[in-house]
Amino acid sequence: MPLVNTKKMFENAYKGHYAIPAFNVDNVDIMKAVLRAAEKTQSPVIIAISSGALKFIGENYIRQVMDCAMKEVTVPVALHLDHGKDVALCKRCVDLGFTSVMIDASAYDFEENIRQTREVVEYAHAHGVSVESELGAIAGIEDEVVVDDKYGNFTHPADVIEFVEKTNIDSLAIAIGTAHGAYKFKPGQKPQLRFDILEEIEQKLPGFPLVLHGASSVPAASLKILNSYGGAMPEAIGIPEAMLLDASKHAVCKINVGTDIRVAYVGGLRKALVENPEKFDARVFINPAMDAVTALCEDKIRNVFNSAGHAND
Ligand SMILES: [Zn+2]
Repeated sequence: MPLVNTKKMFENAYKGHYAIPAFNVDNVDIMKAVLRAAEKTQSPVIIAISSGALKFIGENYIRQVMDCAMKEVTVPVALHLDHGKDVALCKRCVDLGFTSVMIDASAYDFEENIRQTREVVEYAHAHGVSVESELGAIAGIEDEVVVDDKYGNFTHPADVIEFVEKTNIDSLAIAIGTAHGAYKFKPGQKPQLRFDILEEIEQKLPGFPLVLHGASSVPAASLKILNSYGGAMPEAIGIPEAMLLDASKHAVCKINVGTDIRVAYVGGLRKALVENPEKFDARVFINPAMDAVTALCEDKIRNVFNSAGHAND
């Protein structure tokens, strides 16, 4: 099955009240483990590659590897650049054969964000590639939150129509309280998503696909495995899965998960290393790590994204 862009995926997800999982993959083994979960559950899936992962896997490998993988895959898959920090990188990924790119110019002011996003859209659309852009600040725990009104640093609903119309993007990443990384909240803090803002945005852009970043839940079970076998990750508070399930029933058509995949993979590796000290065949350690990723993705597809069985929509 050839790679696809996200257009039809998002149309179907919007209509069907589910979300397409965007799993961040750091290497080819994780990519294979994610695709296995999508195949097993018959879910469409987005393989998200950060600029760091692109460097690690190699620009000359990525499309070839995906094409090889797709010979065995029967579900729709998009190859997506996550957080393209400049126009040149986004264009290069279009040339490499990505079917979707994200331009993240959210650190610039509104006008410059529009300008850069539009430049990427013009190039990408000419090649049949979808574009996601971000409006508002998706926080990390380090970010100082300066609240000037009820929207604070979140996406201002008043901006979204102009942004989407002027850029012609295919999906919009919004900030409503999710955050990148494992440490999204301070200890004791209660995770909250601003569903009021989500609903306002949804009303302004009926039918338009929205995207949530920083949506790992950091499951306690995964963290426990990692820490029981020599890891030392402090406890973390993620986004509760019930909130994400709620969001996927709204206009949220794509939810990004990175941290949870890393924790599952490294937990699987650590466990296998500790349990097999006499072995030196790398596959003995990598296989269970891949299995942990497949199990995690399968669980999220069925219980969080609600996308299982939607491969042929
Ligand atoms: Zn992100």
